[in-house]
Amino acid sequence: MTAGRCGTGTVVEFTAVSKRYSGGVTAVGGVDLGVRYGELACIVGPSGSGKSTMLHLMGTLDRPSGGRVVIDGYDIAALSDREVSALRAQRIGFVFQQFHLAVGVPVLDIVADGLLYAGVPMRERRRRAARALARVGLSHRLGHLPHQLSGGERQRAAVARAVIGEPALLLADEPTGNLDSAAGTAVLALLRELHTAGTTVVVITHDREMAEVFDRKVEMRDGRIVADSAHTPTGTEVHG
Ligand code: ADP
Repeated sequence: MTAGRCGTGTVVEFTAVSKRYSGGVTAVGGVDLGVRYGELACIVGPSGSGKSTMLHLMGTLDRPSGGRVVIDGYDIAALSDREVSALRAQRIGFVFQQFHLAVGVPVLDIVADGLLYAGVPMRERRRRAARALARVGLSHRLGHLPHQLSGGERQRAAVARAVIGEPALLLADEPTGNLDSAAGTAVLALLRELHTAGTTVVVITHDREMAEVFDRKVEMRDGRIVADSAHTPTGTEVHG
């Protein structure tokens, strides 16, 4: 899809974005944020600060109540739900805290399924899945079922599935939340490797210590960006 695409150097462009839920909760209020292609960034904040809502908006899983969201050059407001789904399937990869791996399906096929909507024939999907699994250090586990993997291996498989389609943007929601510290460190190292190879990575976390390993740290509180190590955003209130 190329219609409606505006060429910018940013993969995520939020302008005065807000999200209000029914019941009157403003989860995100008037946020300006730009993420450039190739960045390794994290959004950090306490529970309830709006991180998940930001991830949903960046991942086009939700539309804003106000403001403008441009993802990979597409103004989300100008796209139909179908076009948004296509954009998400082709250009965005997701990694969640809970892995979300299909039960009883071999790892090779789980990862290959990451290309289902790209119209790639099964043989080629499997070939690329094997390559993606090699990239995350799981070449020796292709036929394993998810329950036969350690938590760290499951998360690495989830990362392989998320990147097999070479997304413009990889979004990870507390990707180390269910892991012990060694496995968590390995997953973070993997995200860094992907970033070095050119993938844009945005992680959300409540873990301030983990946030320190990222090149860019965007801090949220009460639905607003209160600090951004890349720059001090204009138009947002900066709390001490
Ligand atoms: P975080 O990920 O930082 O914990 P969230 O984005 O999940 O924050 O939530 C921000 C605020 O929005 C919270 O006050 C939360 O209770 C509220 N919220 C989140 N999702 C919904 C929803 N679907 N309906 C109503 N309120 C919601």
